[in-house]
Amino acid sequence: MGFRTYTCPISRRCGGCEWLAVPYPIQLRRKQEQMEELFEPVCRHDGCSVSKIAGMDDPRGYRHKAATPYAPGAKGRIRSGFYESGSHRLVYCKSCLVEDRRARPILNDVAIVAQRLRIPAYQEDRGTGVLRHAVVRIGYASGEELLTVVTNGDALPRARRFVTAIRELHPHLTSVVQNVNDRRTNAILGRRNVTLFGPSHMHDSLLGCSFEIGPTSFYQTNPQQTEVLYGLAIRAANAQPGMRVMDAYCGTGTIGICLASEARRQGVRDVRVVGVEQVGNAVECARRNVGANCLADSCEFVRDDATAFMARAQRGGERFDVVVMDPPRAGSTPEFLEGVCRLAPERVVYVSCNPFTQVRDLSILQDGGYRVTSIEPVDMFPHTKHVETVVALSRR
Ligand code: SAH
Repeated sequence: MGFRTYTCPISRRCGGCEWLAVPYPIQLRRKQEQMEELFEPVCRHDGCSVSKIAGMDDPRGYRHKAATPYAPGAKGRIRSGFYESGSHRLVYCKSCLVEDRRARPILNDVAIVAQRLRIPAYQEDRGTGVLRHAVVRIGYASGEELLTVVTNGDALPRARRFVTAIRELHPHLTSVVQNVNDRRTNAILGRRNVTLFGPSHMHDSLLGCSFEIGPTSFYQTNPQQTEVLYGLAIRAANAQPGMRVMDAYCGTGTIGICLASEARRQGVRDVRVVGVEQVGNAVECARRNVGANCLADSCEFVRDDATAFMARAQRGGERFDVVVMDPPRAGSTPEFLEGVCRLAPERVVYVSCNPFTQVRDLSILQDGGYRVTSIEPVDMFPHTKHVETVVALSRR
Protein backbone atom coordinates (compact mmCIF):
# COMPACT_ATOMS: atom_id res chain seq x y z
CA MET A 1 0.00 0.00 0.00
CA GLY A 2 1.50 3.35 -1.05
CA PHE A 3 1.45 6.50 1.02
CA ARG A 4 -0.93 8.27 -1.30
CA THR A 5 -3.65 10.56 -0.08
CA TYR A 6 -7.08 10.95 -1.61
CA THR A 7 -8.65 14.23 -2.57
CA CYS A 8 -12.20 15.46 -2.46
CA PRO A 9 -13.28 18.88 -3.75
CA ILE A 10 -15.55 19.55 -0.77
CA SER A 11 -13.59 17.89 2.02
CA ARG A 12 -12.80 21.17 3.76
CA ARG A 13 -16.42 22.17 3.98
CA CYS A 14 -18.18 18.82 4.32
CA GLY A 15 -16.34 17.69 7.42
CA GLY A 16 -17.36 14.04 6.94
CA CYS A 17 -13.83 12.73 6.31
CA GLU A 18 -11.85 14.63 8.92
CA TRP A 19 -8.69 12.62 8.23
CA LEU A 20 -8.72 12.62 4.42
CA ALA A 21 -5.46 14.60 4.18
CA VAL A 22 -3.66 11.93 6.20
CA PRO A 23 -2.29 8.95 4.20
CA TYR A 24 -4.28 5.82 5.00
CA PRO A 25 -1.41 3.80 6.56
CA ILE A 26 -0.81 6.72 8.91
CA GLN A 27 -4.50 6.93 9.77
CA LEU A 28 -4.33 3.27 10.77
CA ARG A 29 -1.22 3.86 12.84
CA ARG A 30 -2.93 6.76 14.61
CA LYS A 31 -6.01 4.69 15.36
CA GLN A 32 -3.81 1.89 16.65
CA GLU A 33 -1.98 4.28 18.97
CA GLN A 34 -5.22 5.82 20.19
CA MET A 35 -6.64 2.40 21.02
CA GLU A 36 -3.44 1.38 22.81
CA GLU A 37 -3.61 4.55 24.88
CA LEU A 38 -7.33 4.20 25.61
CA PHE A 39 -7.12 0.52 26.58
CA GLU A 40 -3.83 0.87 28.48
CA PRO A 41 -5.45 0.58 31.95
CA VAL A 42 -7.51 -2.41 30.75
CA CYS A 43 -4.40 -4.14 29.37
CA ARG A 44 -2.40 -3.40 32.51
CA HIS A 45 -5.18 -4.74 34.74
CA ASP A 46 -5.74 -7.94 32.76
CA GLY A 47 -2.39 -8.59 31.10
CA CYS A 48 -3.65 -8.39 27.52
CA SER A 49 -2.78 -6.23 24.54
CA VAL A 50 -4.48 -4.47 21.64
CA SER A 51 -4.23 -6.47 18.39
CA LYS A 52 -3.27 -4.86 15.11
CA ILE A 53 -6.14 -2.88 13.64
CA ALA A 54 -7.85 -4.52 10.64
CA GLY A 55 -7.73 -1.89 7.88
CA MET A 56 -9.10 -1.95 4.34
CA ASP A 57 -7.05 -2.72 1.24
CA ASP A 58 -8.89 -0.02 -0.67
CA PRO A 59 -10.45 2.54 1.67
CA ARG A 60 -12.85 3.99 -0.92
CA GLY A 61 -16.49 3.43 -1.83
CA TYR A 62 -17.05 1.50 1.40
CA ARG A 63 -20.31 3.12 2.49
CA HIS A 64 -23.24 1.15 1.17
CA LYS A 65 -25.69 3.57 2.72
CA ALA A 66 -25.83 7.22 1.69
CA ALA A 67 -28.21 9.99 2.69
CA THR A 68 -28.90 13.60 1.95
CA PRO A 69 -31.11 16.32 3.35
CA TYR A 70 -32.98 18.54 0.89
CA ALA A 71 -33.60 22.27 1.18
CA PRO A 72 -35.24 24.92 -0.98
CA GLY A 73 -32.78 26.84 -3.16
CA ALA A 74 -33.11 29.90 -5.40
CA LYS A 75 -35.74 30.00 -8.20
CA GLY A 76 -37.66 26.94 -7.08
CA ARG A 77 -34.57 24.72 -7.06
CA ILE A 78 -34.02 21.98 -4.55
CA ARG A 79 -30.62 21.58 -2.96
CA SER A 80 -28.96 18.38 -1.78
CA GLY A 81 -25.58 17.46 -0.34
CA PHE A 82 -23.92 17.40 3.07
CA TYR A 83 -24.26 19.82 5.93
CA GLU A 84 -21.15 21.92 6.38
CA SER A 85 -19.50 20.82 9.56
CA GLY A 86 -21.14 22.38 12.60
CA SER A 87 -23.93 24.03 10.60
CA HIS A 88 -27.07 23.36 8.61
CA ARG A 89 -25.70 24.92 5.41
CA LEU A 90 -25.74 22.46 2.52
CA VAL A 91 -22.66 21.76 0.39
CA TYR A 92 -23.46 20.13 -2.95
CA CYS A 93 -21.73 16.80 -3.55
CA LYS A 94 -21.44 15.40 -7.06
CA SER A 95 -19.81 12.17 -6.04
CA CYS A 96 -18.48 11.01 -2.70
CA LEU A 97 -15.20 9.14 -2.31
CA VAL A 98 -16.34 6.94 0.55
CA GLU A 99 -19.78 6.01 -0.76
CA ASP A 100 -20.63 3.28 -3.22
CA ARG A 101 -20.52 5.23 -6.47
CA ARG A 102 -24.07 4.24 -7.43
CA ALA A 103 -25.62 6.05 -4.46
CA ARG A 104 -24.97 9.78 -4.78
CA PRO A 105 -26.34 10.23 -8.33
CA ILE A 106 -29.67 8.75 -7.18
CA LEU A 107 -29.85 11.16 -4.22
CA ASN A 108 -29.05 14.15 -6.45
CA ASP A 109 -31.56 13.09 -9.09
CA VAL A 110 -34.30 12.88 -6.45
CA ALA A 111 -33.82 16.65 -6.05
CA ILE A 112 -34.01 17.23 -9.80
CA VAL A 113 -37.12 15.10 -10.25
CA ALA A 114 -38.87 16.66 -7.24
CA GLN A 115 -38.02 20.11 -8.57
CA ARG A 116 -39.50 19.26 -11.94
CA LEU A 117 -42.68 17.89 -10.35
CA ARG A 118 -42.89 20.83 -7.95
CA ILE A 119 -42.68 18.70 -4.85
CA PRO A 120 -41.52 21.30 -2.33
CA ALA A 121 -38.43 20.70 -0.23
CA TYR A 122 -38.76 20.80 3.54
CA GLN A 123 -38.03 24.09 5.25
CA GLU A 124 -36.37 23.14 8.44
CA ASP A 125 -36.83 26.42 10.28
CA ARG A 126 -40.58 26.61 9.52
CA GLY A 127 -41.43 22.92 9.43
CA THR A 128 -43.16 23.35 6.03
CA GLY A 129 -42.66 21.61 2.68
CA VAL A 130 -42.56 17.90 1.82
CA LEU A 131 -39.21 16.41 0.81
CA ARG A 132 -36.93 16.11 3.85
CA HIS A 133 -34.30 13.49 3.13
CA ALA A 134 -33.52 10.50 0.96
CA VAL A 135 -31.49 7.45 1.86
CA VAL A 136 -30.06 4.94 -0.60
CA ARG A 137 -28.91 1.53 0.48
CA ILE A 138 -27.03 -0.72 -1.91
CA GLY A 139 -26.66 -4.42 -1.27
CA TYR A 140 -23.04 -5.53 -0.99
CA ALA A 141 -23.56 -9.02 -2.33
CA SER A 142 -27.05 -8.64 -3.82
CA GLY A 143 -26.56 -5.31 -5.61
CA GLU A 144 -30.19 -4.47 -4.76
CA GLU A 145 -30.88 -0.74 -4.51
CA LEU A 146 -33.40 0.62 -2.01
CA LEU A 147 -34.34 4.29 -2.16
CA THR A 148 -36.17 5.73 0.83
CA VAL A 149 -37.69 9.18 0.39
CA VAL A 150 -38.51 10.88 3.68
CA THR A 151 -41.52 13.22 3.64
CA ASN A 152 -42.88 15.68 6.17
CA GLY A 153 -46.33 14.08 6.56
CA ASP A 154 -48.30 11.46 4.66
CA ALA A 155 -48.72 13.37 1.41
CA LEU A 156 -46.26 12.96 -1.44
CA PRO A 157 -47.80 14.89 -4.33
CA ARG A 158 -47.47 13.24 -7.74
CA ALA A 159 -45.94 10.17 -6.12
CA ARG A 160 -46.59 7.95 -9.11
CA ARG A 161 -44.93 10.32 -11.55
CA PHE A 162 -42.06 10.74 -9.14
CA VAL A 163 -41.44 6.99 -9.04
CA THR A 164 -41.68 6.65 -12.83
CA ALA A 165 -39.21 9.48 -13.36
CA ILE A 166 -36.62 8.32 -10.82
CA ARG A 167 -36.81 4.76 -12.16
CA GLU A 168 -36.28 6.01 -15.67
CA LEU A 169 -33.08 7.68 -14.56
CA HIS A 170 -32.06 4.74 -12.35
CA PRO A 171 -33.49 1.53 -13.75
CA HIS A 172 -31.50 -0.58 -11.29
CA LEU A 173 -33.56 0.64 -8.31
CA THR A 174 -35.24 -2.42 -6.82
CA SER A 175 -37.45 -0.61 -4.27
CA VAL A 176 -38.72 2.90 -3.63
CA VAL A 177 -40.20 3.50 -0.18
CA GLN A 178 -41.72 6.63 1.32
CA ASN A 179 -40.93 7.17 4.98
CA VAL A 180 -43.05 9.64 6.91
CA ASN A 181 -41.30 11.86 9.43
CA ASP A 182 -43.42 14.75 10.68
CA ARG A 183 -41.45 15.34 13.85
CA ARG A 184 -39.37 18.46 14.11
CA THR A 185 -36.16 16.72 15.03
CA ASN A 186 -32.77 16.04 13.46
CA ALA A 187 -33.58 12.34 13.18
CA ILE A 188 -33.74 11.42 9.51
CA LEU A 189 -36.33 8.66 9.60
CA GLY A 190 -39.84 8.52 10.96
CA ARG A 191 -41.67 5.35 11.93
CA ARG A 192 -44.12 4.83 9.04
CA ASN A 193 -43.15 3.37 5.66
CA VAL A 194 -45.24 3.25 2.50
CA THR A 195 -43.88 1.13 -0.34
CA LEU A 196 -44.14 3.00 -3.64
CA PHE A 197 -42.39 0.47 -5.86
CA GLY A 198 -40.97 -3.04 -5.53
CA PRO A 199 -40.64 -5.06 -2.34
CA SER A 200 -40.85 -3.25 1.02
CA HIS A 201 -37.43 -4.61 2.04
CA MET A 202 -34.14 -5.35 0.36
CA HIS A 203 -31.79 -8.30 0.78
CA ASP A 204 -28.11 -8.65 1.24
CA SER A 205 -25.74 -11.30 2.48
CA LEU A 206 -22.90 -11.38 4.96
CA LEU A 207 -20.64 -14.38 5.63
CA GLY A 208 -22.86 -16.55 3.46
CA CYS A 209 -26.10 -15.70 5.32
CA SER A 210 -28.87 -13.72 3.68
CA PHE A 211 -30.58 -10.81 5.38
CA GLU A 212 -33.71 -8.84 4.84
CA ILE A 213 -33.22 -5.16 5.59
CA GLY A 214 -36.06 -2.71 6.09
CA PRO A 215 -35.85 1.03 5.41
CA THR A 216 -35.79 1.76 9.15
CA SER A 217 -33.79 -1.17 10.49
CA PHE A 218 -30.17 -0.89 11.47
CA TYR A 219 -27.71 -2.54 9.11
CA GLN A 220 -23.97 -1.92 9.14
CA THR A 221 -22.79 0.66 6.60
CA ASN A 222 -19.48 -0.93 5.56
CA PRO A 223 -20.33 -4.54 4.70
CA GLN A 224 -16.81 -5.57 3.75
CA GLN A 225 -15.45 -4.65 7.16
CA THR A 226 -18.61 -5.94 8.85
CA GLU A 227 -17.58 -9.41 7.71
CA VAL A 228 -14.22 -8.85 9.38
CA LEU A 229 -15.89 -7.52 12.56
CA TYR A 230 -18.41 -10.38 12.76
CA GLY A 231 -15.69 -12.92 11.99
CA LEU A 232 -13.74 -11.70 15.02
CA ALA A 233 -16.85 -11.71 17.22
CA ILE A 234 -17.78 -15.25 16.13
CA ARG A 235 -14.27 -16.52 16.76
CA ALA A 236 -14.25 -14.91 20.21
CA ALA A 237 -17.62 -16.53 21.03
CA ASN A 238 -16.00 -19.91 20.28
CA ALA A 239 -19.10 -22.02 19.68
CA GLN A 240 -19.27 -25.34 21.56
CA PRO A 241 -21.92 -28.08 21.33
CA GLY A 242 -25.06 -27.19 23.28
CA MET A 243 -23.96 -23.61 23.87
CA ARG A 244 -26.56 -20.89 24.55
CA VAL A 245 -25.74 -17.43 23.24
CA MET A 246 -27.44 -14.11 23.96
CA ASP A 247 -27.14 -11.62 21.07
CA ALA A 248 -27.97 -8.34 22.81
CA TYR A 249 -28.70 -5.17 20.78
CA CYS A 250 -29.05 -7.51 17.79
CA GLY A 251 -30.63 -5.27 15.12
CA THR A 252 -31.83 -7.60 12.36
CA GLY A 253 -30.08 -10.53 14.05
CA THR A 254 -27.00 -10.49 11.85
CA ILE A 255 -24.34 -11.47 14.41
CA GLY A 256 -26.36 -14.25 16.04
CA ILE A 257 -27.48 -15.70 12.70
CA CYS A 258 -23.94 -15.64 11.26
CA LEU A 259 -22.71 -17.29 14.46
CA ALA A 260 -25.35 -20.05 14.38
CA SER A 261 -24.75 -20.63 10.69
CA GLU A 262 -20.98 -20.86 11.14
CA ALA A 263 -21.46 -23.32 14.01
CA ARG A 264 -23.67 -25.44 11.79
CA ARG A 265 -21.10 -25.31 8.99
CA GLN A 266 -18.44 -26.54 11.38
CA GLY A 267 -20.66 -29.30 12.70
CA VAL A 268 -20.96 -27.82 16.21
CA ARG A 269 -24.32 -29.18 17.35
CA ASP A 270 -27.19 -27.59 19.26
CA VAL A 271 -25.94 -24.02 19.43
CA ARG A 272 -28.84 -21.79 20.46
CA VAL A 273 -29.04 -18.03 19.97
CA VAL A 274 -31.54 -15.71 21.64
CA GLY A 275 -31.40 -12.17 20.28
CA VAL A 276 -32.89 -9.05 21.85
CA GLU A 277 -33.59 -5.76 20.13
CA GLN A 278 -35.89 -2.86 20.95
CA VAL A 279 -36.93 -1.76 17.41
CA GLY A 280 -39.96 -3.82 16.37
CA ASN A 281 -39.30 -3.64 12.64
CA ALA A 282 -35.75 -4.94 13.10
CA VAL A 283 -37.03 -7.86 15.20
CA GLU A 284 -39.54 -8.76 12.49
CA CYS A 285 -36.68 -8.75 9.97
CA ALA A 286 -34.56 -10.85 12.34
CA ARG A 287 -37.33 -13.46 12.58
CA ARG A 288 -37.67 -13.64 8.81
CA ASN A 289 -33.89 -13.85 8.52
CA VAL A 290 -33.93 -16.93 10.75
CA GLY A 291 -36.34 -18.61 8.34
CA ALA A 292 -34.42 -17.51 5.25
CA ASN A 293 -31.26 -19.12 6.61
CA CYS A 294 -33.05 -22.29 7.78
CA LEU A 295 -32.04 -21.71 11.40
CA ALA A 296 -35.49 -21.94 13.02
CA ASP A 297 -34.19 -24.64 15.37
CA SER A 298 -31.33 -22.55 16.64
CA CYS A 299 -32.29 -18.85 16.74
CA GLU A 300 -35.10 -16.82 18.29
CA PHE A 301 -35.55 -13.09 18.61
CA VAL A 302 -37.29 -11.04 21.26
CA ARG A 303 -38.43 -7.44 21.11
CA ASP A 304 -37.43 -5.82 24.36
CA ASP A 305 -35.13 -3.35 26.00
CA ALA A 306 -31.85 -5.21 26.53
CA THR A 307 -31.68 -4.23 30.21
CA ALA A 308 -35.26 -5.35 30.87
CA PHE A 309 -34.60 -8.61 29.00
CA MET A 310 -31.49 -9.24 31.08
CA ALA A 311 -33.49 -8.74 34.32
CA ARG A 312 -36.12 -11.17 33.05
CA ALA A 313 -33.54 -13.79 32.04
CA GLN A 314 -32.23 -13.68 35.59
CA ARG A 315 -35.60 -13.94 37.25
CA GLY A 316 -36.33 -16.93 35.00
CA GLY A 317 -33.06 -18.56 36.04
CA GLU A 318 -31.97 -18.85 32.40
CA ARG A 319 -28.55 -20.09 31.43
CA PHE A 320 -26.36 -18.35 28.85
CA ASP A 321 -22.82 -19.51 28.11
CA VAL A 322 -21.90 -16.51 25.99
CA VAL A 323 -23.27 -12.97 25.87
CA VAL A 324 -22.52 -11.10 22.64
CA MET A 325 -23.40 -7.41 22.92
CA ASP A 326 -23.27 -4.62 20.35
CA PRO A 327 -24.86 -1.51 21.89
CA PRO A 328 -25.22 1.89 20.18
CA ARG A 329 -22.65 4.65 20.65
CA ALA A 330 -23.90 5.54 24.14
CA GLY A 331 -22.89 2.07 25.31
CA SER A 332 -24.82 -0.23 27.64
CA THR A 333 -26.32 0.41 31.09
CA PRO A 334 -24.81 -0.44 34.48
CA GLU A 335 -27.91 -2.58 35.16
CA PHE A 336 -27.36 -4.64 31.99
CA LEU A 337 -23.67 -5.10 32.76
CA GLU A 338 -24.30 -6.02 36.41
CA GLY A 339 -26.93 -8.43 35.08
CA VAL A 340 -24.29 -10.04 32.84
CA CYS A 341 -22.08 -10.58 35.88
CA ARG A 342 -24.90 -12.22 37.84
CA LEU A 343 -25.90 -14.35 34.84
CA ALA A 344 -22.24 -15.42 34.78
CA PRO A 345 -21.73 -16.59 31.17
CA GLU A 346 -18.35 -18.18 30.46
CA ARG A 347 -17.51 -15.50 27.89
CA VAL A 348 -18.65 -12.03 26.95
CA VAL A 349 -17.99 -10.60 23.49
CA TYR A 350 -18.45 -6.84 23.47
CA VAL A 351 -18.62 -5.32 19.97
CA SER A 352 -18.51 -1.54 20.06
CA CYS A 353 -18.78 1.42 17.71
CA ASN A 354 -17.56 3.71 20.48
CA PRO A 355 -14.54 2.38 22.40
CA PHE A 356 -14.79 5.28 24.89
CA THR A 357 -18.12 4.11 26.30
CA GLN A 358 -16.89 0.52 25.93
CA VAL A 359 -13.92 1.13 28.23
CA ARG A 360 -16.31 2.66 30.78
CA ASP A 361 -18.58 -0.40 30.53
CA LEU A 362 -15.69 -2.89 30.70
CA SER A 363 -14.79 -1.71 34.18
CA ILE A 364 -18.15 -2.98 35.48
CA LEU A 365 -17.53 -6.39 33.89
CA GLN A 366 -13.98 -6.46 35.27
CA ASP A 367 -15.25 -5.62 38.78
CA GLY A 368 -17.89 -8.33 38.39
CA GLY A 369 -15.48 -11.21 37.77
CA TYR A 370 -14.43 -10.91 34.11
CA ARG A 371 -10.98 -10.65 32.57
CA VAL A 372 -10.36 -9.08 29.16
CA THR A 373 -8.58 -11.57 26.92
CA SER A 374 -8.44 -9.76 23.57
CA ILE A 375 -9.04 -6.32 22.07
CA GLU A 376 -9.36 -6.23 18.29
CA PRO A 377 -9.87 -2.89 16.51
CA VAL A 378 -11.47 -2.76 13.06
CA ASP A 379 -11.42 0.23 10.74
CA MET A 380 -15.03 0.45 9.58
CA PHE A 381 -14.82 4.15 8.66
CA PRO A 382 -11.56 5.08 6.89
CA HIS A 383 -10.78 8.83 6.75
CA THR A 384 -12.84 9.47 9.88
CA LYS A 385 -11.80 9.31 13.50
CA HIS A 386 -14.11 6.37 14.26
CA VAL A 387 -12.86 2.93 15.33
CA GLU A 388 -14.85 -0.21 16.15
CA THR A 389 -13.61 -2.86 18.52
CA VAL A 390 -14.31 -6.45 19.47
CA VAL A 391 -13.37 -7.14 23.08
CA ALA A 392 -13.52 -10.68 24.46
CA LEU A 393 -13.81 -11.40 28.19
CA SER A 394 -13.67 -14.64 30.18
CA ARG A 395 -14.89 -15.44 33.67
CA ARG A 396 -12.01 -15.48 36.11
N1 SAH B 1 -25.71 -6.06 16.16
C1 SAH B 1 -26.46 -5.37 15.13
C2 SAH B 1 -26.98 -4.00 15.56
C3 SAH B 1 -26.02 -3.09 16.24
S1 SAH B 1 -26.54 -1.40 16.38
C4 SAH B 1 -25.64 -5.27 13.86
O1 SAH B 1 -24.46 -5.52 13.85
O2 SAH B 1 -26.24 -4.95 12.81
C5 SAH B 1 -27.28 -1.34 17.95
C6 SAH B 1 -28.70 -1.85 17.98
O3 SAH B 1 -29.14 -1.73 19.34
C7 SAH B 1 -29.71 -1.08 17.14
O4 SAH B 1 -30.41 -1.99 16.34
C8 SAH B 1 -30.64 -0.44 18.17
O5 SAH B 1 -31.97 -0.35 17.74
C9 SAH B 1 -30.51 -1.39 19.34
N2 SAH B 1 -30.79 -0.83 20.68
C10 SAH B 1 -30.49 0.41 21.13
N3 SAH B 1 -30.83 0.54 22.42
C11 SAH B 1 -31.37 -0.66 22.80
C12 SAH B 1 -31.90 -1.15 24.02
N4 SAH B 1 -31.95 -0.40 25.11
N5 SAH B 1 -32.36 -2.42 24.06
C13 SAH B 1 -32.32 -3.21 22.94
N6 SAH B 1 -31.82 -2.78 21.76
C14 SAH B 1 -31.35 -1.54 21.68
